[in-house]
Amino acid sequence: MMLESERETMPKDELHVVQLERLQSTLNRAYLNVAHYRRAFDDAGILPDDVRSLTDITKLPFTTRQDIEKCYPYDMFAVPLREVVRIHTSSGQARRPIVTGYTANDLKAWARLMARFLVGAGITKDDVIQIAFRYGLMTGGFGFHAASELIGASVIPADVGNTSEQVMIMRDYLTSIIACTPGYALILLDKLKETGINLKSLRLRRAILGAEKLSPVVRDKIEKGLGVEVFNSYGSSVVLGPGIAGECSAHDGLHVYEDFFIAEVIDQDTGRVLRPGEKGELVITTLMREAFPLIRYRTGDITMIKEQVCPCGRTHLKLEDFYGRTDDTIKIKGASVSPERIREILKASGVDTRTQLRVYREGPYERADVLLEVGEKLFFDEMRAQKAFMEKLEKVLHTGTSVRMNVKIVPVSAFKGEAAVVDERD
Ligand SMILES: [Zn+2]
Repeated sequence: MMLESERETMPKDELHVVQLERLQSTLNRAYLNVAHYRRAFDDAGILPDDVRSLTDITKLPFTTRQDIEKCYPYDMFAVPLREVVRIHTSSGQARRPIVTGYTANDLKAWARLMARFLVGAGITKDDVIQIAFRYGLMTGGFGFHAASELIGASVIPADVGNTSEQVMIMRDYLTSIIACTPGYALILLDKLKETGINLKSLRLRRAILGAEKLSPVVRDKIEKGLGVEVFNSYGSSVVLGPGIAGECSAHDGLHVYEDFFIAEVIDQDTGRVLRPGEKGELVITTLMREAFPLIRYRTGDITMIKEQVCPCGRTHLKLEDFYGRTDDTIKIKGASVSPERIREILKASGVDTRTQLRVYREGPYERADVLLEVGEKLFFDEMRAQKAFMEKLEKVLHTGTSVRMNVKIVPVSAFKGEAAVVDERD
């Protein structure tokens, strides 16, 4: 099943002509309208007109998260604010969130790309889709929402949380598709079992996942537990939201929508472009974004390109499942959190000590502990007594990262190894 089969199965050489044309137009618009790109290109001694083939893209400078942070809030926008019809921000991992804008065309394109993914996953207007992604400043809920409406499915904007109600909705509203993070699918599964609902009585047939790494173990639990076919997706709230790449019925990697994006995988240390099959950092260039064009954006996500003919008929390249991040950033309950950000928040509250973030599962629930290493005995006792202070720290961490974490005081050398993050989830 394809939404736009002409586009999705376009012969590679034609696809490359489309990509080059759109790349040149993006470069011209970015150079003309975004001071950052003009400076970066000038510094690299390159002009948009110097890019005459797709391989010339390697001459262009990378764009990093730090570059965008410096342009807070609107200096990366390539159109005037009056043409922007939607504003989102990336999840709270940085001092300043990344603010992205969408023109009306950007929103239409976003919905279409996501709809390609959903149609590829077999979703039709006969489906009832329960969207248990966050609606708010982050892009998740909205990305799935607009695409589901475009297809004509019955959309339930359930948001995240209130799991008892979600389970009731799933049963009573005849949900056939659940869209959520892998972590939340496990929580729903647990709640369904706890409530004693006969899973066979549900209409559920697909789980559409995204926003987190999906391990084979978790995938298997969801497929077997919920009795659904799982389709994974990849997105980035900086680049667009969900809808950059999606799994097809072959269940062997995620197709990048190459008429909208150029995907490269690079060696994170040298910046050298790697060949298919070599693992490295994913770099994305947008080809159709009007308000927020990104040129060679370093996503920090580690993957590899799979260059092989897909039995589904799509010609667009596929990415292997994701292996993690180039930095210490970690996804907890669908939100990105970095240890650096945690240290920053704690420092602002007067706590400047070695910390370790420990993430684990308690049943299906993700838990995060922030361990503070406290050396002196006296200080240790004092801190332990200050329950109110610990609660305050938990509150500022929640506000600053949008994730609930427990703060715990530990003596020196209680850390598990030297890593700033210990991820004990499957
Ligand atoms: Zn395929």
